Amino acid sequence: RAKNEAKGEPCFFDDEMDAAERDRRTLERDMRTAIEEGRIDIAYQPIVCVATGEITSVEALARWSEPDRGAIPPDIFIALAEDCGLIDELGEQILRRACIDGLAWPEKLKVAVNLSPRQFYSGMLTDTVLRVVEETGFPAHRLQFEITENLVIQNAAEAFSQLEELKSHAIGISIDDFGIGYSSLSYFQSFSFNKVKIDKSFVSELDHSKAAKAIVQAVVGLATQLSMSVVAEGVETPLQRQMLEDLGCSHLQGYLISRPVSASAISAMVISEAALLPA
Ligand code: C2E
Ligand code: MG
Ligand code: MG
Ligand code: MG
Repeated sequence: RAKNEAKGEPCFFDDEMDAAERDRRTLERDMRTAIEEGRIDIAYQPIVCVATGEITSVEALARWSEPDRGAIPPDIFIALAEDCGLIDELGEQILRRACIDGLAWPEKLKVAVNLSPRQFYSGMLTDTVLRVVEETGFPAHRLQFEITENLVIQNAAEAFSQLEELKSHAIGISIDDFGIGYSSLSYFQSFSFNKVKIDKSFVSELDHSKAAKAIVQAVVGLATQLSMSVVAEGVETPLQRQMLEDLGCSHLQGYLISRPVSASAISAMVISEAALLPA
């Protein structure tokens, strides 16, 4: 190695990169197989209404685990699926599964599905969504999509026109992780979102940061004026819940209320109408 360093050849780093690249390729191969075999699972996390304490919707969160690797975080495998061209197939699979699971739940319960910016690239998203809705019989008006701000910056006009089309079929559109991306308040002039989800980083800072509190307050004010509901993500403590309620957040989501759980666990929760927000 010393010899190579002397020649200025970064041989050590080459070896490191080869190993990383090999790992990436085996992960990609395993994911391809998991998608083909329909082994990507979904956990659902309830979102509750502050006013009634009821679950109004559940967010579908993709889950993948392998016996030898354990659970692979969705941030990792979703990004990988985007990079290797599998995201449209994976996205459709997740949507179909969420629609089928959703049929077992009461009509008033909405199902939120995350969309990756790449799913907008093909121009086929609306067709795919309408086809899945048709094939599964899940009513479009019970479907909500969560998109991050980063979607909108890529190709704003094109993205907004696809969102309008989805919305014209009564599908709800939420802006996710609000406040941490390349946010621009002008998005709210271009498109009327149904929901804003305040990123959990603000929620976790709430009890010791004056700024976080002011930001939540400002987003709630904006949302109220624009008739959007506000979901606070990542609510973990009773104090956070209290502060968010006092600040006028209409909906809460987080480990304090419930972790993401199986579809059958959601059925059990809604059947028993268990109070997820005890007074
Ligand atoms: P997200 O859409 O913002 O989802 C919220 C994340 O916060 C989830 O992480 C959830 O498990 C976690 N979370 C919920 N409550 C709490 C809490 O009280 N405390 C903390 N610390 N975390 C909480 P997860 O499941 O690891 O997903 C991470 C991200 O991966 C998601 O962020 C979303 O961007 C992406 N993702 C997950 N499933 C899908 C999918 O089906 N499609 C796409 N395109 N992206 C997905
Ligand atoms: Mg989300
Ligand atoms: Mg989020
Ligand atoms: Mg996120």
